[in-house]
Amino acid sequence: MAGIPLDDIVKAPKALLHDHLDGGLRPATIVELADGIGHALPCTDPADLGRWFVESADSGSLERYLETFAHTVAVMQTEESLHRVARECALDLAADGVVYAEVRYAPEQHLENGLSLDAVVEAVLAGFADGSAEAAAAGRPIRVGTLLTAMRHAARSQEIAELSVRYRDTGVVGFDIAGAEAGFPPTRHLDAFEYLQRENFHFTIHAGEAFGLPSIWQAIQWCGADRLGHGVRIVDDITGGKLGRLASYVRDKRIPLELCPSSNVQTGAVASIADHPIGLLRDLRFRVTVNTDNRLMSGTSLSRELALLTEAFGYGWAEVQWFTVNAMKSAFIPFDERLALINEVVKPAYAKLIG
Ligand SMILES: [Zn+2]
Repeated sequence: MAGIPLDDIVKAPKALLHDHLDGGLRPATIVELADGIGHALPCTDPADLGRWFVESADSGSLERYLETFAHTVAVMQTEESLHRVARECALDLAADGVVYAEVRYAPEQHLENGLSLDAVVEAVLAGFADGSAEAAAAGRPIRVGTLLTAMRHAARSQEIAELSVRYRDTGVVGFDIAGAEAGFPPTRHLDAFEYLQRENFHFTIHAGEAFGLPSIWQAIQWCGADRLGHGVRIVDDITGGKLGRLASYVRDKRIPLELCPSSNVQTGAVASIADHPIGLLRDLRFRVTVNTDNRLMSGTSLSRELALLTEAFGYGWAEVQWFTVNAMKSAFIPFDERLALINEVVKPAYAKLIG
């Protein structure tokens, strides 16, 4: 199918809920930062390095996949480098036509040079603020909210949850846990989730990517997740269009699914974009959102993900608007601010595109 041209999608306002800061660096920035600290990279030509990231993530080898993050995290250990990466992230998303983004990262992974958790958070927030201000000055306004991630295999979730709440009025809009699902159920971090609920704070949980329904069930029914990071395996509870109890609950409660098509193809969770359950989940009207996960490792952007979907499923502007409004409705910023973006930015633009 023809699909909507990428350039046209870039011009339309879009919203993104699931994007990792350490998965979206510019290759040229990695080269410069690595050179500054004497960190060895597999290659030092930015174009070659960009290809190396995508190929490694494509390889099907967990070792090579993890190596990609070892390099990005290695060059993000100072306030200057964190500020730079965050600033460029805001600029790159704005250049892609993203008007609202929630970008996540795990502060505990940026302490190797002795930074405190608070210093990490402040450097990233300042980078997002500076990048957003520059983008707005260039006529590309973007609002970037931060999600702080705790690692599932580690034991710092309570500390990171408290850190998130401490910065809730200065740009941190939510909390997340990420990392290997198998063997590390979200219920290991119940204290953190209960704390966040008592604080009336928002959180999402990486669940149901490679691992199946029990992970999704725990994230929602034990931990109280507001959204599901991926959640794509909810399709295991749908047979011939008939929803099981968990899938029904997820749809009835309008629990947002942060789907990441290209990332799922790369990790082997799904065979191809055309085979991605997003088609079925949209037809069944789950609260589906489209996301990038790791733009560097997948060589992608939100516009590209949407363009691939219009090609694979024959979607037009009405569906692109639906995904965008779903994401805005599911954002962790206050209701009135979500509504303002939907009514004043998203809907007027798509009204022209849909005609
Ligand atoms: Zn993710």
